Amino acid sequence: MKYGMTAELDEFRVEVRDFVQRHAPAIPPKAGVRSAEDTEELALLKEWTRALFEAGYIGGAWPREYGGNGPDHQLERDVVVGEEIARHRAPAPVQGAANLVANALIDHGTDQQRDAYLAGIRSGEYIFCQLFSEPGSGSDLASLRTRATKLDDGRFRITGQKVWTTNAQWADYGYLLARTDPDAPKHKGISAFLVDMSLPGIDVRPLREMTGTADFNEVFLDDVMVEADAMIGDINEGWRIANSSLAHERSGVANNAVRLQRNVAALIDLAGKVQRRGRPAIEDDAVRDRLGALSASVDALSAMVYAGLTRVSNGEPRMSDAPMAKLMFSELGVEIASYALELCGERGIVVSGDDAVEGGRWQDEFLYARAYTIAGGSSEIMRNLIAERGLGLPR
Ligand SMILES: Cc1cc2nc3c(=O)[nH]c(=O)nc-3n(C[C@H](O)[C@H](O)[C@H](O)COP(=O)(O)OP(=O)(O)OC[C@H]3O[C@@H](n4cnc5c(N)ncnc54)[C@H](O)[C@@H]3O)c2cc1C
Repeated sequence: MKYGMTAELDEFRVEVRDFVQRHAPAIPPKAGVRSAEDTEELALLKEWTRALFEAGYIGGAWPREYGGNGPDHQLERDVVVGEEIARHRAPAPVQGAANLVANALIDHGTDQQRDAYLAGIRSGEYIFCQLFSEPGSGSDLASLRTRATKLDDGRFRITGQKVWTTNAQWADYGYLLARTDPDAPKHKGISAFLVDMSLPGIDVRPLREMTGTADFNEVFLDDVMVEADAMIGDINEGWRIANSSLAHERSGVANNAVRLQRNVAALIDLAGKVQRRGRPAIEDDAVRDRLGALSASVDALSAMVYAGLTRVSNGEPRMSDAPMAKLMFSELGVEIASYALELCGERGIVVSGDDAVEGGRWQDEFLYARAYTIAGGSSEIMRNLIAERGLGLPR
């Protein structure tokens, strides 16, 4: 089947588009994946998450007893929902880390854990953060040093430091990887935990980024005591669990292509408004060439994403598809935002006030764009994956 081409999915898209228009929270659009700036925004994001779950637009693949459609769920629907949220420039629901936790609990958790957390995720009430990366352990995540020591009474004592933790400042719970066997080979001595972020010994310090907002945090864990039932799956199985929860996330690449299509359309619009040598920039042949090239590249990305998704639905996934799309998306994102600032000329440095072009939108896009070349695996790591998995080159 060719991806997303059925009449039924087209109808579903119209329905979702209408829903997003009516229910998306009134939060000014920003580039990328951002945290709430205050409690008011947080409440709006929680409500948005709840509404999307209630409408069945997210969590469709969850088992029936937890509100999903189980094996009857059509994965193409997740793609449509993500694309329509991106097209509208609506914020992603507060569910990135929650999604990972839900996947981990559905596949590896106990009934008690599923009962305790899945309903709170659906209702938008529980915010989760992903406590994986550490200073010195990002690309090479398996080298992480946070320790969870098992005590005689079955509890674990956790000590270490995490960094880059999106949403930790708002999170009720963290999905944490920690080393439980320091003597085992590095991938084999890691366990996965659900940690209550209000426990004594947890210190969350927001990091203000060059965008001016604090989207991620440092998290210090100092002798944090967790009960035995905080562990997801078996001891020392954390690496396998984390990878299987990440592997569920396939629809994101399609949203990202839509984000860029939207940005290229906005860039063309911008070129009609700003001046170059006394006339609208869009009338300059060099500008038109560049816009055409960027637009063609984004169309190529979109075609590549759909080809990859088609292979997945036909049961023939190709290992290099996801890294190719991730690399192209994030690098093109930097190129588009940089060109927008170039078109703005000297007004490119004005971020607010009457002289700011489109309320500082392009500066925000420009300052955020580089984050995508790092988050979720850096461009260099994507190139390594393409070389090794796609082309079969040696390490
Ligand atoms: C916006 C944002 C949000 C994030 N949110 C979270 C979150 O919520 N939770 C979480 O756990 N993590 C999060 N991360 C962390 C992210 O996963 C890491 O930043 C990423 O994996 C890279 O790791 P690092 O920053 O430690 O860089 P390093 O791994 O130290 O890399 C530094 C540089 O060396 C290069 N490099 C490293 N290894 C190789 C190699 N083998 N070959 C070639 N080049 C190499 C890299 O490409 C990079 O340029 C987030 C990151 C960003 C940017």
